[in-house]
Amino acid sequence: MDNTEFRDWAHRLADYMADYYEGIEEYQVKSTVKPGSVFSQLPSLPPAESEDMEKIMSDFGKIIMPGITHWQSPNFFAYFPANSSYPSILAEMLTASLGAQCMVWDTSPAAAELEEMVIHWLKSMTGLPTNWHGVIQDTASTSTLAALLCAREKRTDYAVNKNGFSGNERLRVYCSSEAHSSIEKAVKIAGIGQHNLVKVATDRMFRLNTKLLNKAIVADIESGFIPLCVVAALGTTGCTSVDPLSEIAAICEEFGIWLHVDAAYAGSALLLPEYRWMIEGIEKADSFVFNPHKWMFTNFDCSAYFVKDKEVLLQTFEILPEYLKTVNRGTVNDYRDWGIQLGRRFRALKLWFVIRSFGVKQLQDKIREHIRLAKWLEQEINSNPQFEMMAPVPLSLVCFRYIPNHKSNNVDLNHINEKLLGKLNATGKIFLTHTKLNGQYTLRMSIAGTLTAEHHVAKAWGLITETAMSIENDCV
Ligand SMILES: *Cc1c(COP(=O)(O)O)cnc(C)c1O
Repeated sequence: MDNTEFRDWAHRLADYMADYYEGIEEYQVKSTVKPGSVFSQLPSLPPAESEDMEKIMSDFGKIIMPGITHWQSPNFFAYFPANSSYPSILAEMLTASLGAQCMVWDTSPAAAELEEMVIHWLKSMTGLPTNWHGVIQDTASTSTLAALLCAREKRTDYAVNKNGFSGNERLRVYCSSEAHSSIEKAVKIAGIGQHNLVKVATDRMFRLNTKLLNKAIVADIESGFIPLCVVAALGTTGCTSVDPLSEIAAICEEFGIWLHVDAAYAGSALLLPEYRWMIEGIEKADSFVFNPHKWMFTNFDCSAYFVKDKEVLLQTFEILPEYLKTVNRGTVNDYRDWGIQLGRRFRALKLWFVIRSFGVKQLQDKIREHIRLAKWLEQEINSNPQFEMMAPVPLSLVCFRYIPNHKSNNVDLNHINEKLLGKLNATGKIFLTHTKLNGQYTLRMSIAGTLTAEHHVAKAWGLITETAMSIENDCV
């Protein structure tokens, strides 16, 4: 492909992308292709000779698009969103064009300095302590792993980094039973061991029970364990419960435990002053993560990781081979020392585009609107005797289930709700996912799409009630 052809295709793809968004509601939200159907349409050997872009794009439409689930559809209510937006896409086009690998300041000074400033902006936008430092990671999973590694190194005076585990470390990590699976993964990778992750039970609102946390820590100390880290969840994945941070922080302070805060999804709500209560006590924590790629209209991947003590982070991850030595070392931020990977994408650019193009006010308006729509749906559910709310709605995730009046046994209800979810998603008109809360099958409706407006939520609720009635008829 030469420059002329590239220019031509770049123009055509710009139209393709704009058309896609204009017609995004025409697609089935969740792809309905059968397993193996995309794979079997692909040639098993790569082409030896150059293929025409026309042909590649035509196959993209025929083979790839049917197997795509449309995450940016306003009718996507599954999981948590992986929000994109127009300014974010434009920035990614530039990022791909520059193709810069931003491992150290020297490899693109603008990338390093823009990253430093957008991180600074995010602190002021969310109310995080201004004297903390931050860095953009790929995902919250990586950020949480980084936090655990820092906690481990600080606690063992960097001995595990140097010598490996001696076999005498008896480290323990604590989180609630509703906390994210990435914590368990990080505990495994960090060498702490899955059995040393203590999952503390929650209260009635699915928040970590601090009395039980305290008890578990005291019991562990008595048995010779070293309490290493507590991970507090602000906005759990199942039902967005918010752990009581200041109470947890007090416990961590008393026992000298690293406190990591996982606000992967809910962190974006901190843009709203009325949600800052969630981080009361944050100055006593050690690290904090939230994903602008979830609810801040910045496309995947973009995870903002903040630490109180930059030196611990650097000491944990620093490496210095001869070929990476630069004259500016020590006076600039070489972000390869701020995390696990050496090579890094230029992620700051899309954040900069998003924050500038929306402006803080419009970002706040959008997040507030999502929360308002979730509250509206909660009211609808509460006023319909055939449905039941399964958890409070502190943010924009609504957890509920269908309770047809002739059914009361939990096994039946689980079965009916599973069937309802399958039927809803098979319509292709909306996409929801589920969780289990206290063993009860629960539908999750996450209202946080960039393009999701009131009429989408109202229509989705109409479809849910209609489909539920049709299931009831099936069952009779
Ligand atoms: C989504 C989520 C994660 C994992 O996010 P990734 O960026 O995909 O690793 C971690 N914690 C919570 C609470 C989440 O909701």
